This record gives sequence, C-alpha cells and structure tokens, in this order.
Amino acid sequence: MQNISLLFFSLTALIINICSCNSIRELSVNDFKFDGPLGSEGTTIEKLGENFFKVSLGHAPNQPEWNNKLNFEITGNAKGNDLVLIIEGPPRYPMNEYFYSWSYDMENWNPIFWNAGHRVNPERDTLVFPVFEQDRVYFGHQVPLAYEQIEDFYSDLMQKYSDYVNIDTLGKSLGGRNLYRLTITEPAGTVPVKNRWVHYFSNSHPGEHNAQWRMIGKIEWLLSEEGKDFRERSICHFVLMMSPDGPHNGWYRVNAQGIDMNRSYFPGGSDKENQAHEAYIFQNDLEKIMESESPVTTIWGHHTWPGPVEPLLYRVEDDQVGSWTEWRDILLNLAPETLIKPLAVRERSPVGSVTWEYGPHVQFGIAAVLCEGSGNIYTKEENKLSGELLIKSLEKYYRGTRNQ
Ligand SMILES: [Zn+2]
Repeated sequence: MQNISLLFFSLTALIINICSCNSIRELSVNDFKFDGPLGSEGTTIEKLGENFFKVSLGHAPNQPEWNNKLNFEITGNAKGNDLVLIIEGPPRYPMNEYFYSWSYDMENWNPIFWNAGHRVNPERDTLVFPVFEQDRVYFGHQVPLAYEQIEDFYSDLMQKYSDYVNIDTLGKSLGGRNLYRLTITEPAGTVPVKNRWVHYFSNSHPGEHNAQWRMIGKIEWLLSEEGKDFRERSICHFVLMMSPDGPHNGWYRVNAQGIDMNRSYFPGGSDKENQAHEAYIFQNDLEKIMESESPVTTIWGHHTWPGPVEPLLYRVEDDQVGSWTEWRDILLNLAPETLIKPLAVRERSPVGSVTWEYGPHVQFGIAAVLCEGSGNIYTKEENKLSGELLIKSLEKYYRGTRNQ
C-alpha cells in the first residue's frame, strides 16, 4: 500500500513537473520596457488578448504631430510566445515608412515588415512577430544602434587603434550624453597635415540608423590594412550621432528641444543663443576646423530615404581633382546600382542652407554630399558595405595630396 501511494505521489510530482516545464506564460504589459537604451518616450501599451497588444506612440518634444519611433525591450518571458502589435501614433514622419528589426542580443538583427505600410495608413499598422526562441528581445527602427553601443565601439577603437584614432568630447547633449567627434589619420605618414585631404562625415537625424551603419562601414574600412594609404594622406572626421539622446527616446529627427537636427545649421555662423544646443557645439567645432591648417575638403550628411543609397553632390570647382563625372564613374565601377545609385549633382537644397550639407557648402564654399537612401537595405552588413564602397570612391577620386 505504501509503495502504491509512493508511486502515486511520484507520478503526480512528475506530471506537475512536466506541466510546469511546458507551461508558457503569455506576455504581459510588464514584460515590455520603453525606457532602455532603445526606448520610445511617452509610448504606452495595452493588452488586447493573448500575446496581442495595442501600442500608442508618444510624440517628439514640441512636435505633437511627429511620432516617436517604436523601440523597446522585452525583458524576459518571450521564449515560446508569438506576438502581434497594433501600433497607433501621430502621422508625421510616418511611423511605418521603414522596416524595423528585432534581436536577442542587440548585435544580430532580423528585419520585420509592416502589414500595410504608410501609404495605406501612416497612423495605424500591424506587426506580426514569429514565435520567439529566447526570453529577451530587443526591437527598434531600421537596423538599430544605441548610444551605449557607439560608446562601446569607440572604446574598442581606442584600444585597438590608438595610434591613429582620436576621439574628442566636444560637450554634452541636453540629456547629459557625450558629443563625440572621431578623427582618423596616420600621424606617421610622410604627408604634412596641411597637405592632407579632409573629409567630415556626420549624421544629424538620430533615428536614421542605417545612415549610422553606413558611416561605421567607412570607419572600419579606414582602419583596415586597405585603408592605410588613405589614412596617410587624409584626415577623416566622424560625428556618428549629432543628437545622442535620440535612441533612448525614439526621436527620429530631433534633439530635446524638438528641433529638426537637419534644419539646425546656421550658414551665417554658429550662434549659442539661437541655435539648437547640440548643433551649436558641432558647428562651432567645425568652424574651428575650417580655420585650422587642415580645413574640410568634403562634408557629408548621412540620411535615409526609401531605395538604395543615393549620394547627391553640391559641387564646387576644384582644379586639384578631376571632373565630378570622374567620381561618378569610379563609384559606378565599385558599387552595383541596387546598392548605391550613381552620384548625381544637386544645385541647391529645397529646404535652404539650414541643412548640414548645403549649409557648410554655402558658408565655406566646400563640396558637400547629401548621402540619402538605404531604406530598402535590411542588414547591418549591406549598410556597412555601402559605406565602405563610398569611401573607397573618395580614395580613388581624391588622389595624391592637396595644395601641391
Ligand atoms: Zn535625415
């Protein structure tokens, strides 16, 4: 009798055990976090059914019509659950214009696409996720990049390449994050500083992460063995994220003042009183570079819009280099048009000299590139490759040294 009850007890324990192993708790609103490194300020979530939620997006500071992009973390309990999100938000700039990505580790990203798209409805759409295989999930705009990841990337560069990488901290954002400018040049080279070509690469819209990966592709190529010659005869400056408070808040185009960062350039000169906080600091720094013995030769603003990468040139006459069509042809030979469209000339900016491309072009009379597109490039690797090919085209077009 005792044996039978012992057996019965063991069986019951076994069954309970099996059940608890296999039981999957459905996702709850408490599993979602909107204020991490990839966050979305003011965004709320409401449960509609099993693994089925409605998300209401917050808006950018002082811009009630501009949605914050949806970035979040599922902090646990995702494994075994699928997920459907209905997302609603203010209409501009459409929340569902671009793809998003999800990841288990913030490194390996999987693209995910909207059910309807912004042409159907820019204020409401649906995302359907697969069944997750791990508990923690990260989610964000395009191929996401958090401010903290940029800091990690930079400290890694300083450890590995301290001979020719320099990082200046120019100030703090309104959210207290560092404003960095990274400079790469080979100090041991034989070319005097004043004879080096100088290229300045920036990203003003913090939510345009594909543009930031394009810049990282340039940085990684420059630091490779292949980039050595270019490092010896040029100086390259990078501002990877002009508004580093963006990713925590899901801000697509703005800083904490709600100012569109690519309408923040002052072609008459930087202005501490009237300019967006971060824009003033970067423009003031750029003006100092322009006064130095190695002023900028080309300035690039990196953005995204739909399609392949699309470089648009505000050109200047410069008899030290060939015709701009030579540059176009170099790039055509390097890159398939499915990845990078042919370089084209743009006479002026439709929004005026307040952008970080046309503004410096007007202020200093230097060549500028509005580097758009890549909205249809869905992986980190392809975005980085586009940057690598663009900087290789610079290497081949800006031959030798300047002022010689
Ligand atoms: Zn942009």
